[in-house]
Amino acid sequence: MQKGNIGVTTENIFPVIKKFLYSDHEIFIREIVSNAVDATQKLRTLAAKGEFQGEVGELKVNVTVNKDAGTITVSDHGIGMTAEEIDKYINQIAFSGANDFLEKYKDDANAIIGHFGLGFYSSFMVSDRVDIITKSYQEGAQAVKWSCDGSPEYTLEGTEKDERGTDIIMHLSDDCREFLEKEKLEGLLKKYCHFLPVPVVFGKKQEWKEGKMQDTDEDNQVNDTTPLWTRKPAELKDEDYKAFYRQLYPMADEPLFWIHLNVDYPFNLTGILYFPKIKNNLDLQRNKIQLYCNQVFVTDQVEGIVPDFLTLLHGTIDSPDIPLNVSRSYLQSDSNVKKISGYITKKVADRLSSIFKSERKDYEEKWDDLKIFISYGMLTEDDFYEKAKTFYLLKDTEGKYYTLEEYQALTKDLQTNKDGQHVCLYAADREAQYTYIDNARAKGYNVLLLDGQLDTPVVQMLERKLEKTTFARVDADTIDRLIQKDEPKGEELSAERSANLSAVFETQLPKTEKMSFHVETQPMGEESMPVVITQSEYMRRMKDMARIQPGMGFYGEMPDMYNLVLNTDNRLIKDVLEQSEQATAEALKPIEAELRGLNARKSVLQAEQDKKKYDEITDEERKDMDDCRKAIEAEEQKRRDVLSGYALDNERVHQLIDLALLQNGLLTGEALTRFVKRSVDLL
Ligand code: ADP
Repeated sequence: MQKGNIGVTTENIFPVIKKFLYSDHEIFIREIVSNAVDATQKLRTLAAKGEFQGEVGELKVNVTVNKDAGTITVSDHGIGMTAEEIDKYINQIAFSGANDFLEKYKDDANAIIGHFGLGFYSSFMVSDRVDIITKSYQEGAQAVKWSCDGSPEYTLEGTEKDERGTDIIMHLSDDCREFLEKEKLEGLLKKYCHFLPVPVVFGKKQEWKEGKMQDTDEDNQVNDTTPLWTRKPAELKDEDYKAFYRQLYPMADEPLFWIHLNVDYPFNLTGILYFPKIKNNLDLQRNKIQLYCNQVFVTDQVEGIVPDFLTLLHGTIDSPDIPLNVSRSYLQSDSNVKKISGYITKKVADRLSSIFKSERKDYEEKWDDLKIFISYGMLTEDDFYEKAKTFYLLKDTEGKYYTLEEYQALTKDLQTNKDGQHVCLYAADREAQYTYIDNARAKGYNVLLLDGQLDTPVVQMLERKLEKTTFARVDADTIDRLIQKDEPKGEELSAERSANLSAVFETQLPKTEKMSFHVETQPMGEESMPVVITQSEYMRRMKDMARIQPGMGFYGEMPDMYNLVLNTDNRLIKDVLEQSEQATAEALKPIEAELRGLNARKSVLQAEQDKKKYDEITDEERKDMDDCRKAIEAEEQKRRDVLSGYALDNERVHQLIDLALLQNGLLTGEALTRFVKRSVDLL
């Protein structure tokens, strides 16, 4: 028997493995099984080349558990090892700068294992002792047994073994006995070994017999040796892709499209990416892509490895160029990985573009589910935007789809305002904004439906990217002002009359902290509604953005600001105007006379101050101005009191306000009840 020390320059590798690698213990199974798979494939290669002429036999890897002995055994019929090979491949571990590295990556088993080529030694993360019993494929080879209990000392001796190949016997430590549980181990095999290219068998399939689960004769193979991505696209049908998707994600809805990736230059990469139906919560959709290296599972944490928006895709990517045993930070900065991610972005865009061109109808049908993914890509990757702008679709409120270019062509003539800006109108809710949509349509305008989670930022982006184009929600202003033209308009009220009429309504509006109103008058045509409520595009958008973007909370806190526009062409408003003027003329006369005087005085004072530099203005002058302002304010308040007094019991004013609020879903609670009562009374 040979005894010796494992060739590490550091004092002792095993405490290190045990102590530092607590987080990823489970990957030992991947390492040991994939070594067995490698040894098997090497034998196949030798046989194919004629360098091995014996009986190849059934080449599978067996994983067995002996609960009583507390062992997990991984057996293969691969090339095996001679005593010399054990010495060379197992006993000598090249090792330098170990301590620094270990300290840096102590939480990252992948990094440590990869760095030191410690695949086999990862078995010591879970074992008190590991035995290797192996017999080389070489003729007349003597079987050997290597054994090590986690100290640098090992033993190596001749032994009996009938068949060629290797058994790795792991004597699990007490704190790792969980891996002896069938479900636990089978789960790990499914995770890490699901698509290994050699059959991996874990016991027998079971069936329900005589009142309990019993083993059948059939092997319980845990892997699929020819996963779909390794097969030729030409041989595969849609159903195959869908079935593979179900195999990967049994609970998911059917995917929308897929891409079969198959590259061999400038790097090797195969895989299948699926476009899933994305539900509203983007975060739940992430991390569904599985990365493989020669069919060995590497990770499903792909953020930082592929562009953010691609993490929304599902599927598998397999590349021998993806370094297997490395840390995440290494993976993210690896130049191959970067190339791969650029390549995938391009492929995804190309595939979407080709589906759009050749199967537009199908593409449109799936657009609503696809949109958020494409929007996300356009928002975050400029390269993707450049491609996606040809297949990004706008949907209008009638359910028709247009590309950006088509939409410009369709609406540009009619929807360009007097300043040459092309105004795209949109609604976010077809029901709630029905009247506004209707108004716009009556003018012959088209109204888009932008009700997606990312539509506000997309609109912001499109305004930046497209020339002379703005977006405005249909309720952002009255329709004539949304798309201002040089057409002759109805007669506007004088400033004084407008102010009085506005005050009649303004004083009666609900006063809450959540809403604020600005009242104005505008001739909008006899046929149009008497009162229209609008909400400024800018403020609303900022509030929308605040909801999805951190750091904009300030906007979120602000009250909703609305404009209440009184249509001075409408008969009802005209009536209110006339009646209020008659009823208040007497009381307002002295106030208005006073106001005219004060305003004139203010203009004079202002003109004088404007002639001087700021510090030349005397204190006295400042005081005069201040007094004048205060006096104006006081008179204004009087004026408002008069108008408010008039409006307070005016049912028509209240009814008109409430109707407008109601139309915008702003009338609730007590105010709504009052409105209903008043309406009944009026009937
Ligand atoms: P790596 O697989 O990265 O080379 P390992 O520590 O996992 O590092 O294995 C070291 C070497 O031991 C392998 O390269 C291989 O030559 C040999 N070896 C490990 N497991 C087996 C096995 N089951 N059959 C034959 N040789 C093996």
